[in-house]
Amino acid sequence: MTRPVGILGGGIAGLALAARLAHRGHAVTVYDRDRAGGKLRRLTLAGESVDTGPSLFTFPQVWRAYLRGLHESDPLHLRPLPGGLGMHHTPHGPVPLPVPSGHPLHPHWQRYVRAAAPLAPFLGVLLTTPPRLRDPLFRQAAAALLRVQGPHLTAQGWLAAQRLPPALTHALATHALNAGLPPQVAPPLYALIPALVGADVFRPAAGMGALLDALLAFGQARGVTLREHTPVTRLDGQTLTLAGGGTARHDLIVSALDPHRLAALRGRPATSPVARRTVSGVGVYAVLPRPVPLPATSVLPPTDFAAFHAHVRRGALPPDTLTLVHAHGQQLSVLLATPATGEPLTLNHPWVQAQLRRVEATLHAPGLLRDALATTTLAPDHYAQGGHPGGALYGPGLPAWRGGPLHPQPYRLTGGLWQVGTGVHPGGGIPALLGGVHIVDRLLREAGW
Ligand SMILES: Cc1cc2nc3c(=O)[nH]c(=O)nc-3n(C[C@H](O)[C@H](O)[C@H](O)COP(=O)(O)OP(=O)(O)OC[C@H]3O[C@@H](n4cnc5c(N)ncnc54)[C@H](O)[C@@H]3O)c2cc1C
Repeated sequence: MTRPVGILGGGIAGLALAARLAHRGHAVTVYDRDRAGGKLRRLTLAGESVDTGPSLFTFPQVWRAYLRGLHESDPLHLRPLPGGLGMHHTPHGPVPLPVPSGHPLHPHWQRYVRAAAPLAPFLGVLLTTPPRLRDPLFRQAAAALLRVQGPHLTAQGWLAAQRLPPALTHALATHALNAGLPPQVAPPLYALIPALVGADVFRPAAGMGALLDALLAFGQARGVTLREHTPVTRLDGQTLTLAGGGTARHDLIVSALDPHRLAALRGRPATSPVARRTVSGVGVYAVLPRPVPLPATSVLPPTDFAAFHAHVRRGALPPDTLTLVHAHGQQLSVLLATPATGEPLTLNHPWVQAQLRRVEATLHAPGLLRDALATTTLAPDHYAQGGHPGGALYGPGLPAWRGGPLHPQPYRLTGGLWQVGTGVHPGGGIPALLGGVHIVDRLLREAGW
């Protein structure tokens, strides 16, 4: 039966769920305060189309599961990124991940991959299945995760127990920040990410913006109404108030907003202490006059994770931070992890300049941005506008025991109000949120929607 459904937020999560619900015959309207896309935003710089936000497409099995639900073939033409997860410039020396054969760390890398291997066949299940013990598939996958995790509660604890060389441990610990949290507080699963991803790091042939185009096209083909530049200012039961004073009523409302933002729309207090937020970031995007002579991905981890953690917890800028450098043709992006304090950090801010000097020195690329044809900077204040207060990229930081796939998330708030998206499904990146969409679509179907 066709029912009117309103989706709050037209980021990847809102658009992905909109297409799935419309595919099942519902009359879906998506509201976004801005343009659709959320953190995946396309800009024009020096005449070039530049995709900002996510740059690495991992765990494509989740995307394929999403497409199967729509009976669509894959329009993204995913291409492997040269160098996989990239060169990690640790204080103990550079480490390429995955570590290639012939490299002195390769035998240790293989031991690490073997430790994570029993989980590999189950990762797709963990990302796309509601955590229910009566489901034998989930039970099997959960048992595999618990066996691999062992007694460890954090990524750091799991890594310490593997007794790997310091350079490899440091590079692997960096990936805990895929959950937006330092390794001391991220669940052990995040220490396993490089092993589970391996060399399977992709990019759509036409750039990340192709994911946005695909989701918009899937929705359009199924009659989804997209209302851009239409902020929702209030939510009372099933009624939305829109900026300017209009209202809209839907039988089902799904929020694809940050949970704190949703709480505010419902007039409910929500606290989010800085110490428990995931990180925010500064993205510097540039178009250079010539192709950038750097590998596709370089990673500069914080030198000292303890200092990084202490600074981020109290909302202070760390002495050096996790930095991802992506080079693609003439395009360069430098992403700096920051505490989620909503600070308007500009390119000229002394801390940003110091981090850029660290990049130049580490990658032997002096004057990297000197001749840039155009640059733009997106800072925590930008991410705070449409997301979590403070700009936390992955929403609130969940405690380690709740941060993995074993714990049910608060998808259903009332019979007619559900939620998906980065701040709801632990991990927050594209695989986690597409997996969350897959789960919520299934739970809604089971609930009769
Ligand atoms: C710099 C950066 C790098 C990243 N790198 C990666 C990566 O390499 N790989 C990966 O998998 N992930 C990565 N991510 C994470 C990924 O981009 C996000 O998890 C994802 O884009 C979030 O999608 P979302 O739909 O959950 O939320 P959002 O994109 O935050 O969408 C929420 C939407 O809600 C709208 N909205 C807010 N308030 C209202 C309101 N009141 N009324 C109506 N609309 C409203 C906003 O305008 C926004 O469009 C990265 C993120 C960033 C910022």
